[in-house]
Amino acid sequence: MPFSKLGLSEPILNAVTELGYTTPTPIQAEAIPLALKGKNLIAAAQTGSGKTASFVLPILELLSAGETQRKKRARALVLTPTRELAVQVCKSIELYGKHLNLNAIAIYGGVDYAPQKQALIDGVDIVVATPGRLRDLYTQRAIHFDETTLLVLDEADRMLDMGFIEDITKIIDTLPEQRQSLLFSATLSRQVRELAKETVCDAIQLSF
Ligand code: AMP
Repeated sequence: MPFSKLGLSEPILNAVTELGYTTPTPIQAEAIPLALKGKNLIAAAQTGSGKTASFVLPILELLSAGETQRKKRARALVLTPTRELAVQVCKSIELYGKHLNLNAIAIYGGVDYAPQKQALIDGVDIVVATPGRLRDLYTQRAIHFDETTLLVLDEADRMLDMGFIEDITKIIDTLPEQRQSLLFSATLSRQVRELAKETVCDAIQLSF
């Protein structure tokens, strides 16, 4: 199936073509149309499967269809286990969204709070964050999730291995209940399934 059949609009298709992608990977072909329909997904997928585009492209499509606000508040949240992955996902958002007017920031620990707080004040469409620092910022009222209706848990198994379960559940408790959730994990261990049961209701399960 070609990219053009997945339900993505021209600016996103052009960006993908410019990157030299010709065919969606299996996870992209399955996950993108379902995510665009608003479905909740639990996907078992390894790094290298093309999983990043399988959630970034739908996020861009869904958000670009929405109204542009004057003072933007995060409408999509991607949780990742590490700073490196947060930065990488942000770069993918910039690449695939180069023809769109959406912005993303990476939020992670071990650095000053000030620039991250300022970026949130300036307004952002997509937040890509590690759970600990994000929870800190929420506690300090530097971020609001009242418009965050799109959630992605990336590499959920690694986040659990790193002990982020409490931060993740505390953050998710503050998100609107009416939201779309996508969970990606290399393995669907018992712990990952438990997290999925709590956070991603009525999900379609995909395996690659
Ligand atoms: P990921 O599994 O998301 O870490 O992606 C692995 C690599 O595959 C990244 O370098 C992407 O740029 C690349 N990639 C993702 N989707 C495609 C595609 N449909 N065609 C060619 N390369 C891709």
